[in-house]
Amino acid sequence: MAKKYRTISIYCAQCQTLLYKYHKGGRGGLVKCFLDRIVDDRTQGDMKCPSCEGEFARPLEIRNRSAHKIIQGKVYTKGMCRK
Ligand SMILES: [Zn+2]
Repeated sequence: MAKKYRTISIYCAQCQTLLYKYHKGGRGGLVKCFLDRIVDDRTQGDMKCPSCEGEFARPLEIRNRSAHKIIQGKVYTKGMCRK
């Protein structure tokens, strides 16, 4: 069985710049991003918006996997719900 991910787009809440395209598994809101599931990274890898330089995430390690913990309110997503 192939794993099912949805590809969502993550944007800066402040200036609407695309930050990541991300393969999200599971349900519910976006809380963290695993680095190995980011399919398109438009940032410099510093967890800051390349346009307005707003910080939108903090580094996080979950069972030896690197992740970014999203700072709530700093980003918005598209593609979460399939209609
Ligand atoms: Zn921004």
